[in-house]
Amino acid sequence: MTAPVSPRGDLALVEGYHSPQLDVQVRLNTNEAPAPPPAAFRERLAEAVAGIDWHRYPDRSYRGLRAALAAHHGVEPEQVFAANGSNEVLQSLCLAYGGPGRTAAVFEPTYALHSHIPRITGTAVAVGERDEDFVLPLEEVRRVLAEAEPAITFLCSPNNPTGMVEPPELVRAVAAEAPGLVVVDEAYGQFAGWSALQLVDGERPLVVTRTFSKTWSMAAARLGYLVGPAWLVAELDKVVLPYHLDAVKQAAGTAALGFADEMRARVAGIVEERGRVTAALADLPVDLWPSGANFILFRPREREGGEVWKDLVARSVLVRDCSAWPRLEGCLRVTIGTPDEDDAFLGALSEVL
Ligand code: PMP
Repeated sequence: MTAPVSPRGDLALVEGYHSPQLDVQVRLNTNEAPAPPPAAFRERLAEAVAGIDWHRYPDRSYRGLRAALAAHHGVEPEQVFAANGSNEVLQSLCLAYGGPGRTAAVFEPTYALHSHIPRITGTAVAVGERDEDFVLPLEEVRRVLAEAEPAITFLCSPNNPTGMVEPPELVRAVAAEAPGLVVVDEAYGQFAGWSALQLVDGERPLVVTRTFSKTWSMAAARLGYLVGPAWLVAELDKVVLPYHLDAVKQAAGTAALGFADEMRARVAGIVEERGRVTAALADLPVDLWPSGANFILFRPREREGGEVWKDLVARSVLVRDCSAWPRLEGCLRVTIGTPDEDDAFLGALSEVL
């Protein structure tokens, strides 16, 4: 059936987000945390939810959550902006600093939404290339900055889907040389050895985005945020919809921040497990890249990646199939799960290889 009205013309080339949600026993495809937050978090949240004034709009400036996030990072509440997942944070950045006549720079392969969100906000995308080992050379960044003069430059550290951490020298150089805003997406930041949060100050046009979806074990909540200069946060407050953060989400984020030690302990466990899975993969006929995240990118050497993916699904193990993505030919990405899930994955993978 043809639709009776057509969408704006520049959406014709844009595709939606595809990550199959299949019914399998072992789901290691979307980089979620393997374990839920502690039981005490649920209790605290249940109490907070019981106190919600349901007939009233939530606090539009989410002051409690903002203050708790600011305290967590040792910054001022005015330096924090939160939204429905870090994807909405990225969208708000593009609405405020991108748009028609402006360009966002990305360095592929990287997180697909870093070019998808600019496109849906009418922002042009300039693409730089990592080298064949997925390292980002500073000369390549310089080339893109000079040619495209981007209003927004996206870095992702650790980078999804490669897992690789951008070195501090590179991020510092990009921050110093970029003509516009620099966004460092640290959705997986706590799994890595260093954070660009140390570069955030009152002036520099650099923000670090974070999410509750991975390290905080709260993908169901859809909550993300950024830390940046107060003057920038004030602009984001203008483009976001009124009351965008509902009362339950505000309560969930605030409650979670009371369990930061538990979060750190879970992250440490995942990092250790990542070491075990990396070592096991190194014994199989696959190429793999060093990961500072909660997932590992690998490429089967002797079989086609898409075929390996199907054989894993047949064994009720779901990983991310990147094998047909540009620059990632034959690659698969596996999220670190519980030791049992990882054993199931490693067992199935050795069989199918
Ligand atoms: N950034 C990166 C690099 C990601 O991998 C993801 C999730 N896949 C996100 C942002 C978005 O996370 P969320 O919207 O769940 O906060």
